[in-house]
Amino acid sequence: MAVNGVSRIVLLGATGSIGASTIDIVEQTPDAFRIEAVASGRDVAGLAQIARRVGARFAAVRDETLYGALKDALSGSGIEAGAGSAAVVEAALHPADIVVGAISGAAGVEPTYAALAEGRTIALANKECLVCAGAPFMRTAAQMGATILPLDSEHDALWQALGGASPHDVEKLIITASGGPFRTWKRDDIARATREQALKHPNWSMGQKITIDSASMMNKGLELIEAHHLFGVAPDKLDVLVHPQSIVHGLVAFSDGAVTASLYAPDMRVPIAHCLGHPRRLTTNARRLDLAEIASLTFERPDFDRFPALRVAIDALRAGGAMPTVLNAANEIAVEAFLAGRIGFGQIAEIVEEACAEAARDSNLREPATIGEALAVDHIARERRRTVLAGRGGSGKVTFQ
Ligand code: NDP
Ligand code: MG
Repeated sequence: MAVNGVSRIVLLGATGSIGASTIDIVEQTPDAFRIEAVASGRDVAGLAQIARRVGARFAAVRDETLYGALKDALSGSGIEAGAGSAAVVEAALHPADIVVGAISGAAGVEPTYAALAEGRTIALANKECLVCAGAPFMRTAAQMGATILPLDSEHDALWQALGGASPHDVEKLIITASGGPFRTWKRDDIARATREQALKHPNWSMGQKITIDSASMMNKGLELIEAHHLFGVAPDKLDVLVHPQSIVHGLVAFSDGAVTASLYAPDMRVPIAHCLGHPRRLTTNARRLDLAEIASLTFERPDFDRFPALRVAIDALRAGGAMPTVLNAANEIAVEAFLAGRIGFGQIAEIVEEACAEAARDSNLREPATIGEALAVDHIARERRRTVLAGRGGSGKVTFQ
């Protein structure tokens, strides 16, 4: 908490799902927080409305052609407008106590890293930052004495279940997955799933990209890589359990056989409040857990045959080096193509696997040591996948039966 009792917040990705939940928590605790700067990608109207509502001092939109539109939308408010990637970085560096990193995808790497490199505390939802550039993020955090608070629910749950335990006493860190909308579907049916079916998550309401990642279970693979960096744990000490009720989010198995778990209703406002309030607890109206009502909690092993994206991601985690960066870039391109109706659902994992197989044959591909190197690998991997997709007629429409 800040010295005068009010923590200043920068909210990157203010117009998104995590952005909305963060604003909700802040509005419930007005004496504790103030949102100083907000940023979004293209949604000028949404951003201006949020900036006015929270009384921000600065608002930045990533698309530089939208500067005039944002300035107009903010006119008379006294809120400064900015546009372009430098303006989003400027928002990230606005004086603040906590930066909430809630941009979707590797688009968040540059501004989030800029704040980290200034030693800022980051509440990180934007897992792609760590999948794309985990080593530079963690190294810079250590060098600057900056804190990364895990806002992703599974990682927040692990943080809570660890309770400050020594990493030496930990046998396994286990994160759970709901299994998404296709948990009980056959492999062939999953491969033919439509956009509408894939966007229908049973337990969580989230942005489109993470919703598709949850349907393919790539999201759980990205989260294993995220956990590897956040907690400094080797890949073979990380595991996934499918848990359809989404109540237990993370479990820690200790060397003496004890297991601690962290439970809460599937409501992102719980981990957001935990991160913002840390080390205190905020009082919020986030969904309460009624275990008698839920009655039973069930667990299954993940099925790598029906969810090949999870297997591909685990292989990338084990391979290390630049492989997670390539995986993330290829996945973003594949998800974008699926959402645009250019490829089928089953092709997402195929495209990512193909990208990783190509990368494995490239002897020059080392682990990115800096953000610049990570973004260069990311850029090349994206361009390569775009070219391959276009060459395959991936720009045409896919028809679904
Ligand atoms: P949304 O798609 O709902 O929101 C994404 C936000 O990022 C929007 O504000 C969007 O702006 C902004 N944005 C996109 N591109 C850029 C860019 N280039 N520069 C600046 N801002 C940009 O996503 P979510 O809120 O669901 O997810 C955000 C992150 O949090 C993801 O990494 C996700 O994996 C993670 N996460 C999300 C959870 C959830 O429940 N939603 C749970 C755990 C983690 P615009 O509106 O203008 O496009
Ligand atoms: Mg998660």
